[in-house]
Amino acid sequence: MKNVAVIGSGTMGSGIAHTFAQHGYEVLLIDTNSQALERALKNIASNMDRQISKGSLTADEKNAALQRIKTSTLLTDITEETGLVIEAATENKDIKLNIFKQLDHICSSDIILASNTSSISITEIAAITQNAQRVVGMHFMNPVPLMKLVEVIRGKGTSDCVTTKVMDIARALEKVPVEVNDAPGFVANRILMPMINEAIYTLAEGVSGVTEIDLVMKLGMSHPMGPLQLADFIGLDVCLAIMNVLYDGFNAAKYAPCPLLVDMVAAGNMGIKSGLGFYDYSEKSKELRVSARFL
Ligand code: NAD
Repeated sequence: MKNVAVIGSGTMGSGIAHTFAQHGYEVLLIDTNSQALERALKNIASNMDRQISKGSLTADEKNAALQRIKTSTLLTDITEETGLVIEAATENKDIKLNIFKQLDHICSSDIILASNTSSISITEIAAITQNAQRVVGMHFMNPVPLMKLVEVIRGKGTSDCVTTKVMDIARALEKVPVEVNDAPGFVANRILMPMINEAIYTLAEGVSGVTEIDLVMKLGMSHPMGPLQLADFIGLDVCLAIMNVLYDGFNAAKYAPCPLLVDMVAAGNMGIKSGLGFYDYSEKSKELRVSARFL
């Protein structure tokens, strides 16, 4: 199995395409937005340049990997040779259900259908298809080329065979797969997102500032990045979507998204990808600058 299709070419889809192509897979990268596809190819090339400067990739390997990535705006371009489809589109249940409904018709029954969703139920996604056995969660971490973990999520109907295959594929990408059961947020975001949300409450209540909150968690807990910087990195829209899944899924007030998070997403402040979040990324300086809103 050397052909994969990746749906969605944003932060995660481009990283997933990068990683598969670097490990010798032919990749079809699909997005409804052709500009997103162009951006993804540029980002992959510049991320590979960074790998070259660090000595973890050669220029020849970069060129070969880039040639293995084809792009399309159509799901119907997925071919019979494809062994695995990984959906990494926007974290929105309706969008994902719609994609899986189409994939179920387009993809022959031996193609594995995986979702990179951060929190949406794999069992629910699988239920829109005719064959829940081939639907599985394959949750890569950001940035995909660097992060070792792949959370492999078994829906209620996911077969042993499909679980084993995606665990093997993750290992072929030099990742470490960890199998978990389906529940809102799975393991990673069930624990991470409430921490980020609490950091945002701490800021909103004036307990401390952006830099101070991040410093406490970095120096006090040995986190490589503070929770507010991490939220900017993940995307505040993604964080909000995950909190809403936890809130709805558990029906518990402790998962209510902080109003400041809701407000920032409504204002279009999504973190790094929009240029503004808790920090200001409008000037490409190496130093982190706190957003003027929080000074
Ligand atoms: P993003 O906003 O950067 O990119 C989403 C892409 O999906 C966009 O390019 C958009 O045009 C495309 N898209 C939307 N609808 C589509 C459709 N119907 N068909 C094809 N493409 C479509 O989002 P992201 O951060 O890359 O997140 C993608 C998925 O990965 C989400 O499910 C998210 O929860 C998950 N995830 C994100 C992170 C993270 O740190 N950002 C980490 C792990 C998992």
